[in-house]
Amino acid sequence: MIAGVCARCGAVLREEEIGPGCRWSADMHRGRIVGLICPACQTPDEDAEAQFNAETLVYGRDASGRCVASPKVTPASGERVQ
Ligand SMILES: [Zn+2]
Repeated sequence: MIAGVCARCGAVLREEEIGPGCRWSADMHRGRIVGLICPACQTPDEDAEAQFNAETLVYGRDASGRCVASPKVTPASGERVQ
């Protein structure tokens, strides 16, 4: 099943591609996905930001369904939160 298309080139993201190692980026606005960007269309800066976010943030949803991110590492303990 198709999960979305790249906002820049129209490449298709299939649901089975979503998961660890998926290099697609989501363009977020106020906690909502407003676009997807495939790996081929990402600028080096966007790719670096996506990799940094994947390493440091945990994503979830709040009560209204908006996507929220919180840090994987807590400053007080230095331990991963998962
Ligand atoms: Zn693309």
